[in-house]
Amino acid sequence: MTTSSSHVAVIGGGICGLAAAHRLARHGVRVTLLEASDQLGGLGSFFAYQDQWVERFYHCVMPTDDDLLGLLEELGLKDSVRWRKTTMGMIVDGRRHRFNSALDLLRFTPLRLHERVRFGVVSLLLRRSGRGRDLDTLRTEDWLRGLYGRRVWEEFFAPMFGSKFGSSFGDVPALYLWQRLGRERNVATRGYPGGGYKAIIDALRSAIEGAGGTVRTSVPVHRLHSTAGGSSLTLNDGEVLAVDQVLSTVPLPVLRGLADEELAACLPRTELAYQGVVTAAFFLRRPLTGHYWTPVLRSGTGFDGVVEMSALTGPEAHGGSHLVYVMRYTDRTSRLFARDAAGIAAQWTAQLIDLFPELTPEDVEDVRVFKAPFVEPIHPLGYLAQRPPTTVDGTSLRLATTAHVYPDVTSWNSSVKLVNDVTDRLLDDLGRREVGARVP
Ligand SMILES: Cc1cc2nc3c(=O)[nH]c(=O)nc-3n(C[C@H](O)[C@H](O)[C@H](O)COP(=O)(O)OP(=O)(O)OC[C@H]3O[C@@H](n4cnc5c(N)ncnc54)[C@H](O)[C@@H]3O)c2cc1C
Repeated sequence: MTTSSSHVAVIGGGICGLAAAHRLARHGVRVTLLEASDQLGGLGSFFAYQDQWVERFYHCVMPTDDDLLGLLEELGLKDSVRWRKTTMGMIVDGRRHRFNSALDLLRFTPLRLHERVRFGVVSLLLRRSGRGRDLDTLRTEDWLRGLYGRRVWEEFFAPMFGSKFGSSFGDVPALYLWQRLGRERNVATRGYPGGGYKAIIDALRSAIEGAGGTVRTSVPVHRLHSTAGGSSLTLNDGEVLAVDQVLSTVPLPVLRGLADEELAACLPRTELAYQGVVTAAFFLRRPLTGHYWTPVLRSGTGFDGVVEMSALTGPEAHGGSHLVYVMRYTDRTSRLFARDAAGIAAQWTAQLIDLFPELTPEDVEDVRVFKAPFVEPIHPLGYLAQRPPTTVDGTSLRLATTAHVYPDVTSWNSSVKLVNDVTDRLLDDLGRREVGARVP
């Protein structure tokens, strides 16, 4: 057992790293969090727009996000979450549809009448039909094609959810969609924290530092050496930090790039592909769809979805502007990912105006483009059995990453849930839950 003065380094200051460092510090563990960029928050980080802070990537809380809501309660932020009923639209072949009720479905002309009826009935029974089945080894395409029929799969599901996984969507385990439908079962209600995600990030930083932890930004870990006896991390300017334990939250391909030869031989062999994302955040002078989420299918746009954040937050959250994100999930080696931000902004602005003729160029106040290379792990069939363990044999390294949250959907909630589990085990090993714990 490690002694009670153990020092733990946490690599990465996204929600996984912040929540982990917070939990460890609260239990009296000496913790140092190391974040490469100059900002904390990872995929939940933000940019300044006029006098507001705005998320680079749209984020919302679901009513089923119990672990995240538990953390917000600890931080005194739970009551700041503003819940709203939101709606969903759908754009197919350039035509707009509502997609919320049985009546909307009956009017959804991209599907034939008998397909709409079947769609409605099957969707009602979908969660039940998956219960007790081994959905982890069943291809999504085989599951949905069987239930909904070939055309609904090809015309609807493949383009709609496939946008997140590219051509691999049919091959990912049906368990992913099953879990996602579970998380979004109360799809109409969504939440947004008062002060945005920055308020959560700031509160976590204060809580870590208040409990004696250290938070360092602009400190990328360049090299990691780890044996059962301890770890050392090479930082900027050759600084070396020696610690007893390390918890890494960076995506597995990034971790492989940091590991020295000895550690690389111990790391999980799991070869996971990841989807990245390109988003554009538009500040508009007028509302656009009124829906929170609108998938865009076969409409000649480079993006394949629209998220109207102001439908959830109200325009007052963004200085009176209507904040609308458009996005495309894509591989980090794709041409789109390599393209310059100004080119993407110009093209997607023109396409948005084409798609919504009531929008004029003067309505577009500003547009900002953001990219992230590692967003969604693309899970192979049978991933439950291949999921990398959170401990690495022969080392003092633990892992808590988006590759570990499966079968949960990647989200702030699943990150917090994972981190609660990983830090529980680490605390047990450190003997901290019995000795010197600061938490009642
Ligand atoms: C477009 C989009 C929409 C989303 N919508 C939602 C939503 O509505 N609700 C929701 O809950 N979730 C949503 N998510 C998912 C959510 O953002 C992620 O699941 C979550 O942020 C993952 O957190 P993480 O800490 O695992 O990873 P990250 O946030 O990626 O954090 C990893 C951190 O490690 C740092 N790092 C990398 N290399 C090094 C190094 N060498 N040294 C030190 N630090 C390093 C990075 O800079 C980064 O800060 C969305 C994500 C995207 C992209």
